[in-house]
Amino acid sequence: MTETTENSTPKYKRIILKLSGESFSRAGERGIAMDEVVSISKQISQASELGCQIAVVIGGGNILRGGQFKNESASIQEATAHYMGMLATVINGLALQDALESLGIQTRLMTAIHMHGVAEPYIRRKASRHLEKGRVVILAAGTGSPFVTTDTAAAQRALELEANILMKATRVDGVYSDDPEKNPHAVFYRNLGFDQVVKENLRVMDSTAISQCREHGMPILVFNFKTNGNIQKAVLGDQVGTLISPDR
Ligand code: UDP
Repeated sequence: MTETTENSTPKYKRIILKLSGESFSRAGERGIAMDEVVSISKQISQASELGCQIAVVIGGGNILRGGQFKNESASIQEATAHYMGMLATVINGLALQDALESLGIQTRLMTAIHMHGVAEPYIRRKASRHLEKGRVVILAAGTGSPFVTTDTAAAQRALELEANILMKATRVDGVYSDDPEKNPHAVFYRNLGFDQVVKENLRVMDSTAISQCREHGMPILVFNFKTNGNIQKAVLGDQVGTLISPDR
């Protein structure tokens, strides 16, 4: 069941939702657990049904991250490992697409590395058109270039698709002064400016993503996707997570 909210008009017309690969696996495990994928898909479908245009940038860390091969650099080039990571995001994208469509949501999977037998190539204007038609667009293969992460891809797509906000769904409630899973005294921030994020080196997204959003005034909302109904709440503008607003 959808959580009841007083207001049902989305605050944001178009969002980029960054989902880490870990949202597809059970805590402490790797790979894809379809019950987790369906659970997050239900939240996405509720938010989409409100009329919000949603593009999901999907990570691949539940399967593979390029950085994990660092100690084996003699046998695999770093760039190759990053391409493998990008392909992992396509595997996740296919799982998310079917889970969303099983709930009756229209989707399009678009990849930054072209693979015509599997998905549409990412073309900015086409993606925008799909969004206008109410389709949930899943953006896989990151930026298509190695040595960055899907956080950077999410920032890039938020800017070029003129999203109103970049939403990063995580396993914690938002941004803390320190890792809340390690430091019980970590302070939770409800609102932040980019200046403070940079000055205190807060772990929000990778530094390339932060600097792109900062430079172009793209707000970021960091929130916990494990709390049912949070994606819908975020889209409605209800208070959830940590909001990072452009510097004045
Ligand atoms: N990756 C890349 N270029 C991109 C996006 C991702 O090379 O534009 C690679 C990189 O190795 C990364 C992996 O794909 O580690 C999986 O993405 P990410 O680590 O961002 O996944 P997440 O942590 O969000 O699950």
